[in-house]
Amino acid sequence: MDRYRAQWPTAAPPAYPIENAGITHARDTDAQQIVSVSACDCRTEKLKAIHITVYITDIITSDQNQMNKAKRTEIFTRLRAANPKPTTELIYHSPFELLIAVILSAQTTDKSVNKATEKLFTLANTPKTMLALGEAALSEHIRTIGLFNTKAKNIIKTCAILTESHQGEVPRERSALEALPGVGRKTANVILNTAFGEPTIAVDTHIFRVANRTRIAQGKTPLAVEQQLLRLVPREFLKDAHHWLILHGRYTCTARRPRCTHCLIADLCENPGQERT
Ligand code: SF4
Repeated sequence: MDRYRAQWPTAAPPAYPIENAGITHARDTDAQQIVSVSACDCRTEKLKAIHITVYITDIITSDQNQMNKAKRTEIFTRLRAANPKPTTELIYHSPFELLIAVILSAQTTDKSVNKATEKLFTLANTPKTMLALGEAALSEHIRTIGLFNTKAKNIIKTCAILTESHQGEVPRERSALEALPGVGRKTANVILNTAFGEPTIAVDTHIFRVANRTRIAQGKTPLAVEQQLLRLVPREFLKDAHHWLILHGRYTCTARRPRCTHCLIADLCENPGQERT
């Protein structure tokens, strides 16, 4: 720790101090977080320096538990070869339809969402037409989906905001997306990635399990796994990593009985062959 502390004893850190700390695969997110730590409201510069030191130490410690870069690259090379253009299994024809489908998909399957939206989107596929449909009718159309009353409320409120503040369009900024009712970080990441092609990763239950089990990227919370994946997945695979990992978790690396004998990355996985009960 002294090694890092010595670099920023009192002054604000340089723009990319993490590279100076010997971490060679640092991403912009690391630098941004370091800079935001440096801007924290500490009473003294010494406290700031300690916060930065702890953050970097966390990264180094967690990196020691991840698999190596060559293996990660080979895993994504194989996943890409098997499925060059992965995408969501939700059916949509516009960013708005995707937004509604993702809000509906919380704690339910894509299949049941698709069943409900098939008819819904013929009646209402813009914020304006959804508002005209109204909450009661919307609830009826999605009543086969869990939490349909809450989801209908959120969708109507979201449509009102889209109409009033975004000219009826789905915004491309994370903060604007996360301000919509029913939209959290995970949903915002799906929209940014799938509708707008941003290299984001929405860590759901499948990605959380696959990343930790294989040791592609380990973390105790979805946010920690997301941040590790953003740092560790080779850049060329980052945009599609989200879908490769979800599909792998959904169909091969399943929760209880992972299909290790059919797994195309079994020889690279660092925790294979364990059937969970
Ligand atoms: S070998 Fe088994 S545990 Fe490892 S990724 Fe494949 S299915 Fe999952």
